[in-house]
Amino acid sequence: MSEQWQAELAEGFGCVQDLLDFLGIAAPFSAEAAGKFPFRVPRAYARKMRPGDPYDPLLRQVLPLAQELASPEGFVGDPVGDRPALKVPGLLHKYQGRALLITTGACAVHCRYCFRREFPYGESQFTRQREKAALDYIVRDPELTEIILSGGDPLLLSDDRLVRLTKQLTAIPHLRRLRVHSRVPLVLPSRIDERLLEILAGHRLKTVVVIHANHPRELDAETVSVLAAMRRAGLTLLNQSVLLRQVNDSVSALCELSERLFECGVLPYYLHLLDRVRGTAHFEVPEAEARALHEALRRRLPGFLVPRLVREVEGKPYKLPVS
Ligand SMILES: *Cc1c(COP(=O)(O)O)cnc(C)c1O
Ligand code: SF4
Repeated sequence: MSEQWQAELAEGFGCVQDLLDFLGIAAPFSAEAAGKFPFRVPRAYARKMRPGDPYDPLLRQVLPLAQELASPEGFVGDPVGDRPALKVPGLLHKYQGRALLITTGACAVHCRYCFRREFPYGESQFTRQREKAALDYIVRDPELTEIILSGGDPLLLSDDRLVRLTKQLTAIPHLRRLRVHSRVPLVLPSRIDERLLEILAGHRLKTVVVIHANHPRELDAETVSVLAAMRRAGLTLLNQSVLLRQVNDSVSALCELSERLFECGVLPYYLHLLDRVRGTAHFEVPEAEARALHEALRRRLPGFLVPRLVREVEGKPYKLPVS
């Protein structure tokens, strides 16, 4: 039986012109760019955008532009070395103590700046058929204490699939934490229902959910209410953002994001420099400017509201601090 959230997901915008009509905007976009990396926006996210504003920072995150077709030097298919880190299909192991599962290739929203735009999900997902190799890998490495559910968006997995997965992971004695990286609380809040909270919080592993908010307006009343429910269920909530041109490249946007996050019970974790994946060059904020913005945040905010400014460099043992 299809759930309410699945129906909402299916009713989302799959056509750029429909979204622009809904917002009353006549902005240029590129159908060719949308052909290379499909367009997808749930209605709950579209409702947070400002009608009539072609420069709305939420719209910018999803609007396919002709600039995506340019491929300046240095922008590549796999900028962060995901492929070499695939130890078995579906499992990335880059950092000591933590391994990451590519649980699905599906997302509720398609973010144009996504660093996994070209990830070969077909052959590299943690599917039912392939789960044994990945689970065996985790069992064999007693240093692993944390498993990260990633994708795609792991909260698009069905309840049954999530139940099975959390059972499999809780049965591995050396695991202590489960981490979930998701944009669903921001873009498809109806997915965060009571049953999902039980699945995420109802086991022995401490669970951290890292939401990916880039702009304070993503945290509207509906999202605030699901974040509160997640906190009540006992989940630890963190946020990571990507620093994006014309989205959040100002001191005021980043400060307000941290303030809003804290009001929602979420602590800022990382602010990432853009991963240089093909098609995303127009989002890049140069490092010197990123440092200056970060310095300004440090001046204005208490230390616990300043995200760590980092860049991911292939082969390094952790995400490198930029300042
Ligand atoms: C980012 C990432 C992690 C998590 O790193 P933290 O610094 O612990 O947030 C783990 N595994 C992979 C493959 C990653 O890309
Ligand atoms: S939700 Fe995450 S994985 Fe999916 S398109 Fe956006 S950035 Fe990429």
